[in-house]
Amino acid sequence: MTQTFQPKASHFINGAYVEDTAGDVIEVIYPHTGEVIATLHSATPAIIDRALASAKAAQVDWAKLSGTERGRVLRKAAEIMRDRNHDLSVIETHDTGKPMSETLVADAASGADALEYFGGLAGTLTGEHIPVAGGDFVYTRREALGVCVGIGAWNYPIQIASWKAAPALACGNAMVFKPSEMTPLTALQLAEILMDAGAPAGLFNVVQGYGNVGAALVTDSRVDKVSLTGSVPTGRKVYAAAAEGIRHVTMELGGKSPIVVFDDADLENAVSAAINGNFYSTGQICSNGTRVFVQDGLYDDFVARVAERMDGAVIGDPMDEATTIGPMVSARQREIVMGYIEKGVSEGARLVKGGKLIEGDGFYLEPTLFADVEDEMSIARKEIFGPVMSVLRFTTEEEGLKRANATEFGLAAGVFTKDLTRAHRVAAGFEAGTCYINAYNLTPVEAPFGGSKLSGVGRENSKAAIDHYSQIKTVYVGMNDTEAPF
Ligand code: NDP
Repeated sequence: MTQTFQPKASHFINGAYVEDTAGDVIEVIYPHTGEVIATLHSATPAIIDRALASAKAAQVDWAKLSGTERGRVLRKAAEIMRDRNHDLSVIETHDTGKPMSETLVADAASGADALEYFGGLAGTLTGEHIPVAGGDFVYTRREALGVCVGIGAWNYPIQIASWKAAPALACGNAMVFKPSEMTPLTALQLAEILMDAGAPAGLFNVVQGYGNVGAALVTDSRVDKVSLTGSVPTGRKVYAAAAEGIRHVTMELGGKSPIVVFDDADLENAVSAAINGNFYSTGQICSNGTRVFVQDGLYDDFVARVAERMDGAVIGDPMDEATTIGPMVSARQREIVMGYIEKGVSEGARLVKGGKLIEGDGFYLEPTLFADVEDEMSIARKEIFGPVMSVLRFTTEEEGLKRANATEFGLAAGVFTKDLTRAHRVAAGFEAGTCYINAYNLTPVEAPFGGSKLSGVGRENSKAAIDHYSQIKTVYVGMNDTEAPF
C-alpha cells in the first residue's frame, strides 16, 4: 500500500485548516498505482463565504504595510519552501505522477523563485510624479486590487499557486485559491508556508472543489480579480463570468505551439528541445512545442534521431529518481490522449514510435512520435496534453512561419537556426506570447510568460505581472486658484 497524504482538513481559511464534510467527496489518486492517497471535500457555499470574508478582512491591513514589509514575508516563504523542497516534491509526485527527477527541480523550486522575486520587487512598487501646465502636478499611486481569486490546473499545482500568490500578495492583495480537484494537496502546503513566514491569517486561503466552486468564486461581489490557468473552454466561461462584474482577469490557457527547425540548426540541440518540449511532465505542459516543423534537408535525420533518443527514456516508478517519464495524471487524461493517437493513425500520420498504452495499475502511456503529419490532421490542430510529438516537413522560411502561425492558439513558439538575422526575423513573425531562439520551454521568473490569441490575456512572472495585480490611481494636485465661468 502506498503512503497516504491525508491533509489535516480539506480547506485552509483564516490561518487554519477547516473541514466541512457536507461537501462532495474528492478522492486524490496516485497516478502510479491508481490508489487513493487522500480524501477531501469540495467547498460548500458556507466554506466559500468564509474564505472570501477572511480574504476581504485580511487584505485591508496587509495593503497598509510597506512593500518592504510585505516582501519580507514572501522572501521568508521562499526560504521555507526551499527548505521543504524534498517533502513538497514527494507530495507533488504523488498528486500528479510526475517523476521526482522533475518535481525536485521544477515545481516547488519554481514556486520559491516566484516568492523570492516578487518579495524583492514589493518594496520597489511606486507611482510617479507628473508635472502638468501652470505648476499643477499629478501623482499616481499604485494600489492593490483587493481580493484575487486564483484557479489552477493540475499539471503544476504548487507552481501555479505560487505564480499567482506571489505577485498578488506583493501588490497588497489577498487571495482565495482553488486548486484543480485532481491535485489539491500542495496549495495547502503553500498556505502553511505563508503562515509560517509571518503572513496574517486570511491573506491566502485555499478552498477545494470542482468547477462549480471556481464558478461561485468568480461571480462573488467581493472579488476584484480572477487569474485562471486552465483550458480554453474553461477560460471562455471564467472570462465571461468575470465580465459580469467587470473584474480584472489573467487567463493562462492552452496551446498548440510550433518549434521551427531549419536545415542549419544544431541537430542535437533541436532534438533535445523537441524532446523536452513534448515529453517533460509526460507531455502535460501548456507551452509544449507539439508541432515540430523541420526543413527538408534535416527532416529525415531529425526524425531518426528523436526516435533513437526516445529509447533512452526511463518510464516507470516516479519515486525512482532515475525515472524520466511518469504516468499521466489520470485514467481519463490517458484515454483522451489515446483517442488522439488513434486519430493520428487513422488520418494517415506515420507512427514512428510508441503509441501504446502500458498495461498495469498506473496511467502509463508510451511516449509517441508521429512523422509526416499534415496541418489539417487532428493531432496538428488540437491540444493533446500528453506525450505526443508531431513532426511536419517544410521547405521555405515563409512557408514554415505561415504554417507555424496557422493556429487559433498563441502561447509559445521556438526557432532553431544558426542564421542570426533569420532567428530574429522568425521570432518577430511568430504570433505567440513567449518565443524562443535556440532554446525551448524555459520559464524563468524574470521573464514575462503568457499567451496571445486564444491562449490567453495578461502575463505572469516578471515586472509585467505587477500591472495585472495592481491598479493606478491618479491624484491631480491644483497649485493655482480654481477658475469658473460664473
Ligand atoms: P480545466 O480548464 O479543465 O480546469 C482549470 C481549472 O478551472 C480547474 O481548477 C477547474 O476545476 C476549474 N474550473 C472548471 N470549470 C470552471 C468554471 N466554470 N468556473 C471556474 N473554474 C472552473 O484545465 P485542466 O485542469 O484540465 O488543465 C489543463 C489545461 O490547462 C490545458 O488546456 C493547459 O494548456 C492549460 N494550462 C495552461 C497553462 C498556461 O500557463 N497557459 C499552464 C498549465 C496548463 P476542476 O478541475 O475541479 O473542474
